[in-house]
Amino acid sequence: MIRYALLCSDCEHGFEAWFASSAAYDTQAKRKLVACPDCDGRNVTKQIMAPAVRTSERKAAEPDAEALAKEFVKQARAHVSENFDYVGEDFAEEARAMYYGETEDRPIWGETTAEEREALKEEGVPALPLPAPFAPKKPKRKAGRALN
Ligand SMILES: [Zn+2]
Repeated sequence: MIRYALLCSDCEHGFEAWFASSAAYDTQAKRKLVACPDCDGRNVTKQIMAPAVRTSERKAAEPDAEALAKEFVKQARAHVSENFDYVGEDFAEEARAMYYGETEDRPIWGETTAEEREALKEEGVPALPLPAPFAPKKPKRKAGRALN
């Protein structure tokens, strides 16, 4: 026995019917013996079925690029948050002080103006723009950590 999902092209009614075999269905369909239970129409065809199970399997096997990117950004942000010291608008001064050996090297992140960024570049102070999605939430400045 084989069950087919069928579609009546007269009234667009979808229904299921059992046949002895696929050959039996073919024969009955050819002889217009397959009738729509709704309108008794004989223009009945097999429904095209979407391979629902295969689709979900494929989704599970292939990682979603967007989810991967999100996870990457999340981890990068966490890394910056945990390992980098937020220095806010003092970034240029802090980076410069480290570069010239006035303060100890440590990973920092913060903000610069366009002018500061240009100046750092000219002086050869290594600094990279941090893409916005990678920037963690700005922490509150720790009290007592005086700069300048
Ligand atoms: Zn019908």
